[in-house]
Amino acid sequence: MLTNIPYNHPRAGSLHIREMLVEGLRNGIVAHEGLIAHGRGEAFDYLIGEKTTKEAVKAMKSAVALMLLAERKTISVNGNTACLCAKEIVELAEVTVARIEVNLFHRSVKRETAIEKLLIANGAKNILGVDSRTSVNIPKLMSDRRRVDPEGIYEADVVLIPLEDGDRTEALVNMGKNVITIDLNPLSRTARKANMTIVDNVIRVMPKMIELAKQMKKMNKSKLKRITHNFDNKKNLAISLQCILNGLKAN
Ligand code: ATP
Repeated sequence: MLTNIPYNHPRAGSLHIREMLVEGLRNGIVAHEGLIAHGRGEAFDYLIGEKTTKEAVKAMKSAVALMLLAERKTISVNGNTACLCAKEIVELAEVTVARIEVNLFHRSVKRETAIEKLLIANGAKNILGVDSRTSVNIPKLMSDRRRVDPEGIYEADVVLIPLEDGDRTEALVNMGKNVITIDLNPLSRTARKANMTIVDNVIRVMPKMIELAKQMKKMNKSKLKRITHNFDNKKNLAISLQCILNGLKAN
């Protein structure tokens, strides 16, 4: 049961997200460590003003264009992402014709199965990554996240990996994949190693990406290619960091 947060509380949105994650922990979706990872993200969200910046929208457009152009794309889902946006993950996968794969740093069959059930309850038909008997390894990666589905992340040309760790991001880039991440921290290794980084809260990003994907599906390939071509991740990250610094200076 979620606690009663007064609707006019100045931090109601942020408190509500915390409650969702605590509930996710109780339901076996979120790992204890996931709460700590959320804390790091929340601090950066505070610094960017808990709103979607222009730079984030630019990165989202480019990410959606890349997904629409890709032949094989997979959305990688961990506990926090599933807990905060299960319904939206399923809808984004539907609109962009992507596969969904559960991939956990703190791996357990119980948690994988709980996440699979949650996604299926939200309309997903097929979830990859749950049966580790068929998994293959990402080369040169030691964490549990190395185990991926041969029909999902392993064979994808584009992967969307929200709330990721830097090691796997680097390993996926080294495999020649186009890697899109969603990370509130523009300084994280993931944000810096990915090909496209959306510096924003996953809870705001997912509905916006669905909206963009619905609009952009009507665009022809050359227009989509131009959008990805014109995107500069390093520049986008630098401006996102500058937004934080400007906010700090203004106080
Ligand atoms: P890296 O290895 O990339 O440097 P890290 O060790 O800082 O990552 P992790 O714990 O692996 O971090 O992953 C959590 C990341 O997800 C953090 O960078 C955090 O800012 C980000 N994060 C947490 N919650 C959210 C959220 N709701 N939306 C977007 N990003 C988030």
